Amino acid sequence: MLNLVLFGPPGAGKGTQSNLLINKYNLVHLSTGDILRSEIAVGTALGLEAKTLMDRGDLVPDEVVICMISSKLDNNADANGFVFDGFPRTTAQAEALDALLVDKGTSISAMLSLKVEDKELIKRLLERGKDSGRADDQNERIISNRINEYNNKTAPLKAYYHAQNKLSEIEGVGSITEIAKKLNTVIDTL
Ligand code: AMP
Repeated sequence: MLNLVLFGPPGAGKGTQSNLLINKYNLVHLSTGDILRSEIAVGTALGLEAKTLMDRGDLVPDEVVICMISSKLDNNADANGFVFDGFPRTTAQAEALDALLVDKGTSISAMLSLKVEDKELIKRLLERGKDSGRADDQNERIISNRINEYNNKTAPLKAYYHAQNKLSEIEGVGSITEIAKKLNTVIDTL
């Protein structure tokens, strides 16, 4: 199986690149942000609980997202592999993911980390906010909180995967095609 963690701060281009990767390598896209937003759209209790946190730009509890990923892995037992987008975001999530994959006789193949400056991230997210309808893309204070959450709780995961020899850092600035090419080059050497 090919199991990729597509990593980076909010606005780094993870969603866009995930869509290209799942088509090229025939993988299943698992974005915890997308799953949470669909729970909100349907109006589930989980969605309601998550919405307050998401609208503030805070992370939702580890148990919630770990449970969601676990059921998605079970529901896609015959997948060729997965692109994890926006997950894991904490050390507890990374450890839980490793354990879930061990249970399935597989593991993370690589973490592909997109590097983009904060100023560019804020510009991209405010631009996306004009169409996305996402409250968390429309307010610079909430965007800054999301970037802080990333720096404090999520960025340390680079060291976690580096220690497993799985980290590749990729410049996330340039055209979508250029960035995709760089990702493909790393994946093709795995
Ligand atoms: P995203 O679509 O990845 O930018 O996520 C949007 C929001 O959903 C985040 O700001 C968090 O509130 C929540 N979220 C998504 N994925 C996770 C995760 N793995 N852990 C905790 N919160 C998450």
